[in-house]
This record gives sequence, C-alpha cells and structure tokens, in this order.
Amino acid sequence: MTLTSKKFPTDHHGWAELLPRRQANPPLQGAHREPWVVVGAGFTGLACARRLATLHPQQNILLLDARCVGQGASGRNSGFVVATSQFPGRLDKSRLENYRRINRINQAGLELLSAQVEHHAIDCQWRREGFIHTAVDRRALQEYENFLHYLDALQVEHETRDKAVLHEQLGTSLYQAGIQIADGALVQPAALVCGLADNLPSNVRLFEQSPVLSIEDGKPLTLHLANAEVKADKLILATNYEAPALGFLRPYIVGSTLAGSFTRKLTGAELASLGSLTEWGAISLHSGGATLRLTRDHRISIRNTAEYHGSVLLSDKELAQRQATHRAAFDKRFPQLANVPFEYAWSGVEGISRNGTNFFGRQRDSIYLAGGYNGSGVSRGTAFGTAIADYASGETSQTVSDCLASAPGSMMPPRPLLDIAAFFTVRSRFKGVGLDR
Ligand SMILES: Cc1cc2nc3c(=O)[nH]c(=O)nc-3n(C[C@H](O)[C@H](O)[C@H](O)COP(=O)(O)OP(=O)(O)OC[C@H]3O[C@@H](n4cnc5c(N)ncnc54)[C@H](O)[C@@H]3O)c2cc1C
Repeated sequence: MTLTSKKFPTDHHGWAELLPRRQANPPLQGAHREPWVVVGAGFTGLACARRLATLHPQQNILLLDARCVGQGASGRNSGFVVATSQFPGRLDKSRLENYRRINRINQAGLELLSAQVEHHAIDCQWRREGFIHTAVDRRALQEYENFLHYLDALQVEHETRDKAVLHEQLGTSLYQAGIQIADGALVQPAALVCGLADNLPSNVRLFEQSPVLSIEDGKPLTLHLANAEVKADKLILATNYEAPALGFLRPYIVGSTLAGSFTRKLTGAELASLGSLTEWGAISLHSGGATLRLTRDHRISIRNTAEYHGSVLLSDKELAQRQATHRAAFDKRFPQLANVPFEYAWSGVEGISRNGTNFFGRQRDSIYLAGGYNGSGVSRGTAFGTAIADYASGETSQTVSDCLASAPGSMMPPRPLLDIAAFFTVRSRFKGVGLDR
C-alpha cells in the first residue's frame, strides 16, 4: 500500500485548541543533502534533534513532521510527566532492577524537560509537585496496596491520602484512597511541545506538514516527500505508532485511540465547591482508568476512553458519542458541577505494544528508531529521544544502556488478525476497570 500525504489525518481538537494560534513552519520543498534527518516532532523527535544539535554543532539537523507540531500524541495527552511508573499487579521482587531502570529513564526525561522549560521560559503550566494515584473500587484498592509495597521497596517518596483528605483536597467523595507521589510534573502538553519546537538550537531546521512517504536504502539514504527529496547519511525515526507505515515495527506496534473532554473555565463559586488544591492531577490505579486534571486555567479535564480504532483519531460524531462516557464519569465525581458544560473534546492516538515494551535502537544500516511508550511517553519519550541521538552518534550513557535493555517486542499477527489482536491488546488495558472509569 502506497503512503500518501492523505494518510496523516488530523483535526483541530485538543489542548492546542486552548492556545493562541501558532504559526507553523512551512513544508519542505526541493532537493536536500543532510548529515542527519529526524522524522517526527513529538517529544521523542524534538529531544533527539536537540541532542544531535549539541553533539554535532557544525552540522545541520533536519527535523520533519507530517502534521503541525502539537497535533500528534505529544500535544494530545493528559499532561502527566511521570517520574515513577506504576505497574499493575503484586510487587515482583525479581523485577526490581527492571522497575529501577524504567524509573531512571523517566527521571532522566523529567529532568531534561524541566531544564528546557526553565531555560526557555516555556509558558506551559509546568507544575512539578507530583500527582495523585487514586482508587475507587475493590480492584483499584488492591492496586493501591501493591503500589505502596512497590514504592516502599524502591524508596520512592510518597504520602497516602484517605477518602476524607481526598474530598477536602479535590472536592469529590468518589475516591476511597490515594497515593501522592512527590516527584513528577503536570503540564499543558500542547504548550510544552510547541514551546520546545519554537526554541530549537539554531542548527536544527524544522519543517511541518512534511510527511515522509517512503525511504530508499542506500548510501546515502533517500527520503521521498510529496514535493521534496532528501539524501541523508543518518536517519532517526520518532514516528511512534506510524512507524509501520514506513515499513518499520510492522508486527509490533499499534495505535490505541483515547478521548477526553474539558469543561469551560469554572467560576469562582464553582472552584470554591471543589477542594483546597487549586491545581491537581489524579490518575487511576487501574491501568487505562480515568485521568483527571484541574488545570491552572480552571478547567477540569477528564479522559476515560481507550479503544482500538484503526490507529486514527475519532470523528466529531464519534467524539460526541464518547462524551456521554466522559459526562457520566464527571457527574459521578462532581455532582455539584452537574450544570457545568463541557466546552471541548479531543482524541489522541498512543503507540502500544503487545507486551508493554518500548522500542529503541538501530533498525538497519544508518536508520535508528525510538518510540512506543504505552501511554507514558512525555518524560520517557524525551529520554528515549535524547538517548537515540547519543546512540546513533556512538556515545554511551546510563540512559542509552537503560533504553537498550528494553524487552524485545511481542509480535502481533498480520492483518486481518492484527485488528483483532490490537482490539484485545487495547481492551486488556481496561481489564477490570470498574468505578474508576
Ligand atoms: C489521550 C492521551 C493521553 C496520554 N496521556 C499521557 C500522559 O499523561 N503522560 C504520558 O507520559 N504520556 C501520555 N500519553 C502518551 C504520550 O502522549 C506519547 O507516548 C508521547 O507523546 C509519544 O511521543 P512521540 O514523540 O514518540 O510520538 P508522537 O507525539 O506521536 O509524535 C510522532 C510524530 O511523528 C509524526 N510522523 C509520523 N509519521 C511520519 C512520517 N511518515 N513523516 C513525517 N512525520 C511523521 C507524527 O505526525 C507525529 O507528530 C497519552 C497519549 C494520549 C493519546
């Protein structure tokens, strides 16, 4: 099947819709000869291009994205910049080193983002005060116990919250228990990813709405675009779940489509009916359960659907249908805000693998790839992107070693069975989600 520019659909929904309009960089045209090309300008590609620019200050780095920055998963997520991952199930002591490895990667990404936000004064509601993992039903309460054992074993700073404290802080009596993790950040994701793109080093040239349609092997490689051709010595793919369209990771990664809604801005009286925290994030202890935010600009966002939808965004009609699910979950949590309408809804597609692993390394001669973070790619994608630049440049680091230690992906069957496997892979993320949805 030939890849065309039309295979990169987008819409204007999501966190970018809440921002002042940004002027996108023009598409790439003509013939080019480049030492380095990075494809994909989400957190992974932006971090990669930035690191390559530092490692090779005398060389140009070409960064291409099929869409406008902020329209990929990096601008459409829930904005939890994770330092400590939560793994479902009982603590498996034999996997402690693996948990530490993943958290070192998360932490590295969090530090990199934190430094960039500060250095470039990126206005993105960055708030590095951690967030709360919440439990509503019996199964989530079991995960609460599991998570506590894990945090104790890893010596991660945290505090427990009981129902009364959560009610006092968040203004909902739904949550039965919670765990506040000390580190981690909340962010307006589209503002962050656009801020990173607008503050790249001078030897990075970013072109948006520039889909790479095919890659021809050879020395140099040749990248074909609709109105351009690029000869490149080294290529880094940061294309997330769309890598298979270019012939990479085909049986290993699919897109899961998630959707959420934002209220309009709450009034002073409505805010007063909530809790004492003026800004917060709550993430379900059920894998795939609801994520909620009270944002700095006084909106509540709720994201609680995830499905296999052919790795594409939802249509407006489908979004309106999912909003009924968002509304029911919102009303269950905040009956005092039953009259507050949703003002926006959005969907986004995240890359997931069958066994929950991430992808890092050389694909074939001069082509490298990092991606697929199973809903946890803001900090991790930043670390993977930086590390893949190091790795492709022959550098070593703790993060490179940690990324290289990612488990190999589990294969998915070919089409049409792929669709069925993808359906069940996504559904398994929601397994057992009860009242936390
Ligand atoms: C609704 C939702 C909620 C989420 N919540 C969180 C969260 O709270 N915390 C968290 O850590 N993670 C979360 N995630 C996951 C996170 O957003 C992703 O893991 C992360 O953004 C991946 O970054 P990336 O740069 O690898 O990929 P992307 O952001 O998907 O970027 C890949 C880019 O490659 C471009 N591209 C693809 N193919 C081509 C091509 N052929 N030519 C040119 N360009 C191409 C795309 O246009 C895209 O911009 C969520 C995801 C979704 C969808």
